[in-house]
Amino acid sequence: MQYHDVKLLATAANREQWPDSDLPEVMFAGRSNAGKSTLINALVNRKKLAYTGKTPGKTRLLNFFEVDGKMVFCDSPGYGYAKGGSDTALMFSNLIDPYMTERTQLKALVLVLDIRRIPNDDDLTMMDYARANHLPVIPVCMKADKLSRGAGIQAAAKIASALRVPRETCRMVSGTLKTGIEEVMQDIETKTAV
Ligand code: GDP
Repeated sequence: MQYHDVKLLATAANREQWPDSDLPEVMFAGRSNAGKSTLINALVNRKKLAYTGKTPGKTRLLNFFEVDGKMVFCDSPGYGYAKGGSDTALMFSNLIDPYMTERTQLKALVLVLDIRRIPNDDDLTMMDYARANHLPVIPVCMKADKLSRGAGIQAAAKIASALRVPRETCRMVSGTLKTGIEEVMQDIETKTAV
């Protein structure tokens, strides 16, 4: 199974620009370079969606995509790109927090992580927002192909512990080998089915 029909619904800097849709929504977030674009492209079976270009100016917006006419993916900007973090703090308070707090059809957060990195403060902030809004989280550890199977399992366990989620909720995915995608889709289907 794979999603096929993907269309851009809206690009939003503020709540007035959120799309007028009542389909269940799934948010994608993660540190810059963790592999978020790769994951989304693998889920929708595209080499590259037009939007994934990291054009300056496009990077501080929420991108909404309707997927197979049944759900919406909200792609949020990768965080922590600029050192210092004030940019990221603004993005959290102006863009991410209002969306997570007010978007009633939001059903799950896919938190994209690099399997080789321990979650940082920004990742933990995302977890805090999700918990505060009772939003289920699907942690996805990308780049699983960079580690041996055993080292990958250990790394995922460390990530789970830092995020304070059960180990079995963390998915291990390789965008290169296309492994683990199906499990993430199943999680998304389960969370958006209600
Ligand atoms: P984003 O900034 O989170 O959207 O990250 P990208 O999807 O652009 O990925 C950042 C870099 O990591 C790119 O060079 C990708 O090719 C690479 N990458 C992403 N996912 C994987 C993966 O699962 N395995 C490997 N080996 N490389 C990956």
